Amino acid sequence: MSRFWSPLVHRLSPYVPGEQPRVEGLIKLNTNELPFGPSPAVAPAIEAAAREGLQLYPDPQSGALCQALAQYHGVPRDHVFVGNGSDEVLAHAFAGLLKHDGPLLFPDITYSFYPTYCRLFDIAYETVPLDGAMRVHVEDYRRGAGAVILPNPNAPTGVGLGLEAIERLLAMHPDAPVVIDEAYVDFGAQSALPLIARHPNLLIVRTMSKSRGLAGLRVGYALGQAHLIEALVRVKDSFNSYPLDRLAQAGALASLGDEAWFQQGRAAIIANRARLVAGLEGLGFAVLPSQANFVFARHPSRKGAELAQALREQKILVRHFNAPRIEDFLRITVGDADQVSTLLRALGSILAG
Ligand code: PMP
Repeated sequence: MSRFWSPLVHRLSPYVPGEQPRVEGLIKLNTNELPFGPSPAVAPAIEAAAREGLQLYPDPQSGALCQALAQYHGVPRDHVFVGNGSDEVLAHAFAGLLKHDGPLLFPDITYSFYPTYCRLFDIAYETVPLDGAMRVHVEDYRRGAGAVILPNPNAPTGVGLGLEAIERLLAMHPDAPVVIDEAYVDFGAQSALPLIARHPNLLIVRTMSKSRGLAGLRVGYALGQAHLIEALVRVKDSFNSYPLDRLAQAGALASLGDEAWFQQGRAAIIANRARLVAGLEGLGFAVLPSQANFVFARHPSRKGAELAQALREQKILVRHFNAPRIEDFLRITVGDADQVSTLLRALGSILAG
């Protein structure tokens, strides 16, 4: 605390991200990164961009990347906005689209960045409880709202919502912006992309951090009708911020150009997830149905915090949340085949001990 702080700073409670320790031999299954890394085309593209012109400012519109994303997703260029990771895109959405007279609605168990942004941008919000099976129940969102935000699939549960449920939500709130955070959509959930043309209130937020293995490069984007994108552009321009530096623009473009790597990576994660879920169930865990590159699992007779600590002692990091209703769950990133085997072996010996 300091008397020099602006009043705003007193009400902030900053987000606590997953740990990023530098420990030799660590198996890192705590922050949903892709174990295979990005396409091999990415590093040479970044090197070339570094040689070409670090003395020059980047394209402030990230024009080539936006154009490539528009083409990739089959939408017009003015339906695309890029930013430094989807967290930054979300920040612009919170500031530019989600503050209205009515409260912002989101699930009580969801991405914990949302309440952080609400405090930062002074947005009133209401949380809507997940149902008994820890699913989002869209009918519960039928109440007065200024805006809605939901991840699909939800995080940290991994549970996905069908397209008809999302369409019902959009139709329920025709005058309110609805943001669908599709950070994990590439691992088997249904994207709301086909709904953009029919729903002027829909903004989709995506990231290259997960399915494209580019968490270190910081590239996220939004897709939606041009009037929503314009709100994000106005907020960005008010910060006088470049959406992406030269290296990120080049790396992201190279990633988009390697469809085969992308498809292989997602298929491998989906296959490894099935083996992880079967292995965990074999050890007695209850595992929520996941459409993400992580699973959310609970052992009936062991505390989540104890299991996370026991794994840590074996140099395996998973995520544990000290929050009501989920304190006995572990969120485990789906790793490569060896990481899945090592994790299951470690849990087996912990539970036997
Ligand atoms: N949305 C959700 C639901 C997430 O879990 C994350 C990752 N923590 C993000 C957005 C942000 O990802 P990034 O900023 O790396 O794009």
